[in-house]
Amino acid sequence: MASPTHQLSTRELEALSSKAITAKDTAYCPYSKFRVGACVLTQSGEYFLGANVENASYPVGTCAERVAFGNAVVAGHRDFKAIAVATDIKPAASPCGMCRQFMSEFTSPSFPVFMYDGEGNHTLTTMGKLLPHSFGPGDFTH
Ligand SMILES: [Zn+2]
Repeated sequence: MASPTHQLSTRELEALSSKAITAKDTAYCPYSKFRVGACVLTQSGEYFLGANVENASYPVGTCAERVAFGNAVVAGHRDFKAIAVATDIKPAASPCGMCRQFMSEFTSPSFPVFMYDGEGNHTLTTMGKLLPHSFGPGDFTH
């Protein structure tokens, strides 16, 4: 099977990774102590950050990926180039099922997802690999 590819320049990838890693510092995770940072790059070249925001009522908390996409979407963006997600563990963590569905709304199967471990090393995958046979906007016929 072919390895995932991406269209990012070296400069874009460096910016995306450093912003996602730095975004871990803004996580609100007093319960899990599990910091997650995310950064999404728009097709127009803008970066939007996210971090996990927990809640005393555990299920109410939200993930870094959804915060990053939400920030970008409310700023008017709908077209995205890539996302990076950073945690402190090794190997790198991948987005949860809820985030996979959330991200699939705005991405194609080839959309690159860079997952960074605590040492700054990354694994590259795609939305299609994370969420095959997904239900999305294209499934509505009305
Ligand atoms: Zn998630």
